[in-house]
Amino acid sequence: MAESDRPRPLKEAARLTLMLDAVFGKDRFDRAPVDVRALALEYSAQIAPQGRIHEVVQRDIPGCVGALVCSETLPRQWAIMYHLGQSPGRRAFTIGHELGHFLLHRRMIETDVTFGLGIYCDENSVDRRAGSGLEQEADAFAAALLMPLHDFRLQLPAKARPDFEVLSRLAERYGVSLTAAVLRWLEYTETRAIVVVSNEGFALWAKSSDAAFKSGRFLRTKNTVFELPGQAIATRRDFTDEAKMGVAQGAGVWFPEPLVEMCIRSDRYDQELTLLHFDEIGTGLDEVRVEDTLDMFRR
Ligand SMILES: [Zn+2]
Repeated sequence: MAESDRPRPLKEAARLTLMLDAVFGKDRFDRAPVDVRALALEYSAQIAPQGRIHEVVQRDIPGCVGALVCSETLPRQWAIMYHLGQSPGRRAFTIGHELGHFLLHRRMIETDVTFGLGIYCDENSVDRRAGSGLEQEADAFAAALLMPLHDFRLQLPAKARPDFEVLSRLAERYGVSLTAAVLRWLEYTETRAIVVVSNEGFALWAKSSDAAFKSGRFLRTKNTVFELPGQAIATRRDFTDEAKMGVAQGAGVWFPEPLVEMCIRSDRYDQELTLLHFDEIGTGLDEVRVEDTLDMFRR
């Protein structure tokens, strides 16, 4: 299938969002998150009655968090599998991701022999949303379906600096993990912020908001070991309510500028989630304004 003929993730998610809004009302998230398991079964039967998703099941798939597989026989019968031991929030995102593969990539998966009649997805692709190509498309679909931006932005404006209480409430609203909600917010926030996931004082991965990245605030965690500062909450293992709400850190602790650090620990995954909030900077905009003023004088 040509690249341009492939269904687009955001378009597919928008189609389903409109349908769910029509059935359950635009305020549906006030009542419940998307029931993604039921949606996968019912919607696939609607659009592909001969080759629908027959089951959404838990399986032991070592090294993977989820998979979309089909039968050898024709017409293809499909199944979504999710790995053992996922919290309900992670499971919802995994199922959403696999539904994305079904809607966007099933033709490719069933015809291209290199797939071997299935696509298997790892933690990096699903939970960290750090995959590329098809994985990235499935993630974009799942995020848009489970956490539509128009609703998310209403709950949490682009200029707000949320703490973990606010973000946890949103994770609950959308029935996803705290990490998934934080990553969704990082996609549109206009503030400078970084999220760091760590274990025993070392970063497993980190992600910056656009504004933070553009101002040079990011952490290198790929192919390198990043040790958290000694004064970081996660390093000190100071998992108090105060740490959850935010602690001021001086210049030189994380970066050459002060910031507010928040940290929460997940015993289930033996990981800490740290959020760094920076002050707003005016430099980018000021430069533009100065340029404009100079242009005006020159004219
Ligand atoms: Zn995948």
